[in-house]
Formats: sequence, C-alpha cells, structure tokens
Amino acid sequence: MEVAKTIASVRELVKAARSRDQKIALVPTMGALHIGHIALMERAVKDCDYVVVSIFVNPTQFCPGEDLEKYPRPLDADLEICEQVGVDLVFTPTTEQMYGTANLTWVTVEKLTEPLCGRLRPGHFRGVTTVCAKLFSIVQPDIAYFGQKDGQQAIVIKKMVADLNMPLHVVVCPTVREPDGLAVSSRNQYLTEQQKKDAALIYKSLQNCKEMVEDGITDTKSIIAQMREILSQAPAIKIEYVSILDAETLQEIGSVDRLVLAAVAVRIGQARLIDNILVDVGEQ
Ligand code: AMP
Repeated sequence: MEVAKTIASVRELVKAARSRDQKIALVPTMGALHIGHIALMERAVKDCDYVVVSIFVNPTQFCPGEDLEKYPRPLDADLEICEQVGVDLVFTPTTEQMYGTANLTWVTVEKLTEPLCGRLRPGHFRGVTTVCAKLFSIVQPDIAYFGQKDGQQAIVIKKMVADLNMPLHVVVCPTVREPDGLAVSSRNQYLTEQQKKDAALIYKSLQNCKEMVEDGITDTKSIIAQMREILSQAPAIKIEYVSILDAETLQEIGSVDRLVLAAVAVRIGQARLIDNILVDVGEQ
C-alpha cells in the first residue's frame, strides 16, 4: 500500500494503475476509520482493481463553532486498517494541498442542500461538494463510494456528478449499525456509555416510521409526532430535526405515497448525530 501526501504523486500512481487497465475506486473519508468506512472500502476492493482512500478532515465543511479542531485524527491506526482491507493507495493531503492559499472556486448544488443539515449547517454542503469535486478531479475514479448514513450527502453528490457530467459512478452503501441500531460514526467517540444507550433511540424512531408506514399510516405529521415522542424518552436528546421528505427532491410531503427519506438529527452531550432510512410505501 502506498501513502501519498501530494496531488502530483496521486496522479502519477493512478495513471500507472490506469495504464495497467485497472478499474479505479475512490472512498473519500475524514479518517477515524470504523466498520462503516471498512464496509465501503471492502465493497470497493471487491468491485475494482485499484482502491484509493482519501483521509482528509475537510475544514470547509465545518461551520464556525463545530468540532473541526477536536475531530479525531488517528492516522497510524487508519493506515493499518486500510492496509488490512487491501487498499492500494491512501491520499492524506494537507489543507494547503487541497485548497492552496486562495481558493476562489466552489461547487454548489441548489435546492437539495436547503433542507435538513443544509439548513442547520450553512455552507456545509458547499464544502462537501467542493472537496469531492476536487478529489474526483485528482483521482478520476471509475466509481466513488459513499454511505447511506449521510443520506442527504449521497443525494447531493449524485446530483453534482449528474449535473456536471462527471465521468464516474456513485455507489451508495448501506448504513452499518451497532447491534442496538445506532449508526456507527466517528462522532460516537464523543458519547458516554449512557449517551450511547440514549442514542439507540434514533434508530428506534426511524424503525417506528417504517413500521407505521407498513401498518398503513402514511400521514407524515402523525409519524413525525410519534418519532419525536420516542426520542423524547431520553431527556439528554436535543432534537434538531425529524423529517420525512421525498427521497429524490428532498421536498417535504404530507403523505408517504412514494419513496421517502426519513431523517433525524439530534444533539446528545458533545455530539451531533444524524441518521436516516429510506422507506418505500411499495415495500408493504
Ligand atoms: P466520514 O469520514 O464521516 O466523512 O465518512 C466517509 C464516508 O463513510 C461517507 O460516505 C459516509 O457516509 C460513510 N459512512 C460513515 N459512517 C457510515 C456507516 N455507519 N455506514 C456506512 N457508511 C458510513
């Protein structure tokens, strides 16, 4: 496995792989790798011949006052995980490599970035789409892998790739969860044992949404009210949003009559946690 810090060396190594006719995968991450990331990397290793993982805590997707400084950066452990999974190249750029000294070009996806995390984290998705556009341009992968865990992000990236005619496929992998349903996240490290137990209510509320739809209840107001009720069982949980949206347009809907994204964001102690599921009325 190679580790590259510069764009020039990534380009050179990927060019060599391409000249061997190898199919190139990219798994963009911010590091602090866990079984959710590993699932993406394993899928990439299975599908492709040359797997690139980027580890970059992208400052432009953090808002002022967020956890940019304290975000975990266990690089040695991350590299060991990549090696074990069979990754070919890990790209660990500095902020200067990625943005130079005066970045003036930004990629913005409209509409889809307005609700949910877009509303609560102004500028977040602009940072995500810009860094992904840069990574796609540097690595030029055939396939890029993302997690359903960040459902809105996956939808936004897919739209950027389609709208800008970027020559790659986006594969979205299922959310990896703890046995109690809590979505695995680098930010779960911020939780105490009790807070982790409380956080299991997030998935419970999402499951409840799915069950209500299965029982024929499609009124989103009633479903959201019950999801909020479940979350309120833990006073430590501060709800940021509980939303049920059209899974394609991310517009609010009154009734679950198509594929929907049920999404939750909460704060528990030091952590901001998000999770979501796709619910299809046709699944009944
Ligand atoms: P991050 O390092 O948090 O930026 O995540 C990098 C990629 O891993 C993103 O595409 C995430 O959606 C994905 N990811 C994070 N957690 C999980 C999880 N629990 N299951 C599946 N994918 C995940």
